Amino acid sequence: RSNVVSVGSILTKLQQDCATPFPVIRHVADSMTADMRAGLAVDGGSNLKMILSYVDSLPSGNEKGLFYALDLGGTNFRALRVQLGGKEERVVATEFEQLSIPQELMFGTSEELFDFIASTLAGFAEKESEKFHLPHGRQREIGFTFSFPVKQTSIDSGILMKWTKGFAVSGTAGRDVVACLNEAMERQGVDMRVSALVNDTVGTLAGARYWDDDVLVAVILGTGTNACYVERTDCIPKLQGPKSSSGRTIINTEWGAFSDGIPLTAFDRDMDAASINPGEQIFEKTISGMYLGEIARRALVSMAEEGSLFGMAVPNKLSTPFALRTPDICAMQQDKSDDLQAVGSILHNVAGVESSLSERRIVLEVCDAIVKRGGRLAGAGIVGILQKMEQDSKGTIFNKRTVVAMDGGLYEHYPQYRSYLQDAVTELLGSETSKNIVIEHSKDGSGIGAALLAATNSNNR
Ligand code: ADP
Repeated sequence: RSNVVSVGSILTKLQQDCATPFPVIRHVADSMTADMRAGLAVDGGSNLKMILSYVDSLPSGNEKGLFYALDLGGTNFRALRVQLGGKEERVVATEFEQLSIPQELMFGTSEELFDFIASTLAGFAEKESEKFHLPHGRQREIGFTFSFPVKQTSIDSGILMKWTKGFAVSGTAGRDVVACLNEAMERQGVDMRVSALVNDTVGTLAGARYWDDDVLVAVILGTGTNACYVERTDCIPKLQGPKSSSGRTIINTEWGAFSDGIPLTAFDRDMDAASINPGEQIFEKTISGMYLGEIARRALVSMAEEGSLFGMAVPNKLSTPFALRTPDICAMQQDKSDDLQAVGSILHNVAGVESSLSERRIVLEVCDAIVKRGGRLAGAGIVGILQKMEQDSKGTIFNKRTVVAMDGGLYEHYPQYRSYLQDAVTELLGSETSKNIVIEHSKDGSGIGAALLAATNSNNR
């Protein structure tokens, strides 16, 4: 009987510690706005890096011709080509190829990795079908999406700061990744050039903007998270030298590093302490797909240890870090049956536990508390970006249709997360203003987005 009390009190404490009532999300939105300003003022002025993307012109729809995109973002590597037909014909044809990066190349030398990319690209280019046409005398141009921390130096160059996501390739850090790829293409005899180096968030913005002129913000919610938006160059004090002719540029916020005012539980603190980057990426650790399942698992382990949830012994499988993944908690939350059959079998399969109906209900409450916080904080972050833009250009955001393009597996597949996110945006903006703000999924826009940016920044214009 005392165990029941204990599980209940752990649940109550969890719900209190990660609650996001109006004052909390209001503070997070305002603080996001303030951190954005600080990061735009000077390099290193804020948790938010507010990186210049050097993308000054977005696709207009008039782009024509054959363009390629390469995407190196993690375990997969994608090559894509698109034939653009201008305003009327739009996307005439696309073809793509996807490969997983061989494990040994993730630990090899820079030359080996980039030679692999260049030779895969060469093979892909050879299979170009007759739907694709390159005007005589022109070179094939590539938009290169490279989702690792890069210090961008121009639209077509950027220095790799460090490898992440399990890559440990020697000899690339500190070098221009476009030069690395160009040299490899030369070694492999590939006659192509990179015209745009783009972050995946920026690619998503470009891809969505191609279809809809009202898109001003893009957000990725997948394994990790990031956001970018269209900024006025006269609102970027740290921007030195010549300003773009459009007077606009895209800023990559790297908002995963945000941390002010985020409600944290003991389980978040423990997970952070055990992570490879303690104290860093706190916003990312509370809202993105890599972590939601793990936070829930830690709460359940605590309930099992202190309150004998799932019986006397703590199940071994449940004690394994990252055993419960975000897609698992998502699948459990879709169970609408009376006996929570699906919850039971997922708990059995991934955590090795037999559960009673009342235990399954508790598990669902744990998942809901964590997912609710994640979705609401993500929504508050989006409002932080929108209100920054509105403050600087009154009436251009809130009084007209403005679109936020969303992508990433978490946003795409988790309906409860999506609706918590929308709820927070509506609460913060009020029902009238929020009618003007359209938050919509832009599926796989980033690949075509990179090819479009190659077109926009083409040498052949
Ligand atoms: P990435 O961010 O790794 O480049 P994605 O945008 O496809 O790739 O996001 C993958 C992430 O999305 C996974 O790590 C997982 O956290 C989340 N995810 C994938 N499928 C689901 C699902 N069915 N329900 C909830 N989250 C999911």
